[in-house]
Amino acid sequence: MPQIIDGKLISTQIKDELKEQVAAMKAEGVSICLAVIQVGNDPASSVYVNNKKKACAYIGIDSLSYELPEETTQEELIDLIKELNDRKDVNGILVQLPVPKHIDEDAIIRAIDPMKDVDGFHPQSVGALCIGQPGFVSCTPAGIIQLLKRSGIEIAGKECVVIGRSNIVGKPMSLLLLRENGTVTVTHSRTKDLQEVTKRADILIVAIGKPKMITKEYVKEGAVVIDVGIHRNEENKLCGDVDYDDVAPICSAITPVPGGVGPMTIAMLMNNCVESAVLNR
Ligand code: NAD
Repeated sequence: MPQIIDGKLISTQIKDELKEQVAAMKAEGVSICLAVIQVGNDPASSVYVNNKKKACAYIGIDSLSYELPEETTQEELIDLIKELNDRKDVNGILVQLPVPKHIDEDAIIRAIDPMKDVDGFHPQSVGALCIGQPGFVSCTPAGIIQLLKRSGIEIAGKECVVIGRSNIVGKPMSLLLLRENGTVTVTHSRTKDLQEVTKRADILIVAIGKPKMITKEYVKEGAVVIDVGIHRNEENKLCGDVDYDDVAPICSAITPVPGGVGPMTIAMLMNNCVESAVLNR
C-alpha cells in the first residue's frame, strides 16, 4: 500500500501555524490585510474567492473584497490596483483569474506591486525564483514542495519529472524542485516519448489538465506521484490527471483527488500574505 499524502491534514497544519503567527503579530500591533478583486460573476471564481475569504477569517487576516461588474474596463481595474498598491494597510493583492476577455491578463499581473504579489505571478516574482532570490512563489507548486517535505520525502538528488509547463504550475514547479536540488526534467504536449521520460521519475508531478491520463504504464515502481489535475467526471465526482486506482498500487506515495494538492493552494496563499506583512514591516 502506498503512503497517501493527506493534503487536507497538511494544509490544516500550515493554517494553524499561520494562525498562531498572526495572533503573535497582532499582539505586537501588526495586522495583515489581503485585497481580493473579482471581475464579473463566474460561479467557479466566486467559489474560489469565497474560500480565500474564509481562510483569511480562519487565520485572522483581514480581507477586502472588490466585486466589480463584468464590463469594468482595464483602466478602471488598473486604477484600483494602483490605489491598493499605495495603501499601507493592504499587504497582499489578488485578482481572481481569469478576467473577462476584454482585459489583458498580463497587464493586470504587471500592475500589481511585486511586494504585494501574493499569487507570485508577477514577472519580477518569477524572475526572482529563477535566479534564486527572495520573492513570492506561485501557491500550487509551493504547496507541493510542502506536501513532499512534510511527508518526509527527500527531493535532493532525486529524478523529478514534471508533466506540463504552464506559468502557474509546471514552470514554477520545475524551478522549485531545482532549488531543492532535484534533477529536473520538464515534459509537455510536444514531448516525443512521454512514457520513456516519466518512467525515470522518482518524483512525478502531473499537471496536464487531462482526466486520468496517467496510468501505471507511465510510472516507475516505487515512485512518488503528485496529481495537480482537478476534473469532474461523468458522475460529477472529482478526479485528477492520474488514474488513481491504476497507479496507487505500484507507487510509494501518492496524492488523492480531492484532498491532495487542492487544499494546499489556499494554505500557501495565506502563507504568502503573512510573509508579505513580515517583509513590509
Ligand atoms: P495548462 O492547460 O495551462 O497546462 C497544461 C500543460 O500540460 C501544458 O504545458 C501542456 O503542454 C501539457 N500537456 C497537455 N497535453 C499533454 C500531453 N498529452 N502530454 C504531455 N503534456 C501535455 O494547465 P495548468 O493550469 O497547468 O493546470 C493543469 C491541471 O491542474 C488542470 O487540471 C488544472 O485544473 C489543475 N490545477 C489545479 C490547481 C490546484 O490548486 N490543485 C491549481 C492549478 C491548476
